[in-house]
Amino acid sequence: MKIPEKIKTYCPKCREHQEHRAQQVHKGGRDDRGMAKGNRKHRRRTSGYTSRIGEKTDPVKQSKKRKVLLECSECGNKIEKNYPRSRKKIEIER
Ligand SMILES: [Zn+2]
Repeated sequence: MKIPEKIKTYCPKCREHQEHRAQQVHKGGRDDRGMAKGNRKHRRRTSGYTSRIGEKTDPVKQSKKRKVLLECSECGNKIEKNYPRSRKKIEIER
């Protein structure tokens, strides 16, 4: 999937449509939500000597997350845009 370098989209800071510059973010894998409720519970249960609970292993995912950073040309505000995993490859056209 090809993405144009300049995208005109809504900027929440300017409150109107502005031209945005697309920039690819090389960040893959799972969402890092270290303070999520499930993570806190797991840490509490696995801490200490007793109550040993098996560590959950992360399933190996076939594709990486598709994330594109859009930078507003007017105010410089950055917005993250996620594309579905079904898109195998993302390229930014120059
Ligand atoms: Zn803006």
